[in-house]
Amino acid sequence: MFNVTRPQPGPDCSKDYRAEGVIRALKTMFYGKCYLCEDEVGDPVVEHFVAHKGDDKLKYDWNNLFYACHRCNSIKETHIDNKNLVIHDCSNAMIDVSRTIKCLCPSIPNYDVIVEAQDTLDKTKNTFILLDRCYNEDNTGIRGISKESLHEKLFENYCKFIEFRRILRSKDSLQSEKDKAKEHLTIMTDVSYPFSVFWKWHILSDVFLSTQFLDIG
Ligand SMILES: [Zn+2]
Repeated sequence: MFNVTRPQPGPDCSKDYRAEGVIRALKTMFYGKCYLCEDEVGDPVVEHFVAHKGDDKLKYDWNNLFYACHRCNSIKETHIDNKNLVIHDCSNAMIDVSRTIKCLCPSIPNYDVIVEAQDTLDKTKNTFILLDRCYNEDNTGIRGISKESLHEKLFENYCKFIEFRRILRSKDSLQSEKDKAKEHLTIMTDVSYPFSVFWKWHILSDVFLSTQFLDIG
């Protein structure tokens, strides 16, 4: 999960929370990515952070609208909304949500993503439960296919990450190649990049890379 800044005031969503202006504003705010899995969304869903359950105040509240993919939206409904659990709010500037849950890419695409809670707060535990499901749940035919597609995209980026690391580490790389590789890795950790939280954690968990990126947030 990654932090975003919600523009205020937001677009008018008092009558239609799926109006074009609202969707466009959400797309910009979330860098075109699902706020849960960080995949780029081609077919977005406007997600209610607190399930509205028929309450118009929650349904048309700009601060309650998030940008998600269909997979994560339906998984959140099952495991969070239906149980009235509360997760971390990535639009809250008071918390660095990327630091609350560690995410690591598997070395084989069909293996599970490694998801770990970094503290014992209830919100972190609930967010961990949700993200673990978003990345790994395959208990129906459709979720099996959507997991496969998500993991392939994640793995493709992971292969790029590993290649940049190899260039940076290799004794026969030119300095210009190392500088470029470092620049690429910096781009991958930017909040606008797909699955940015993974690349941050892959750097933080790596003795060699963490010394190269001392200011990683
Ligand atoms: Zn998603």
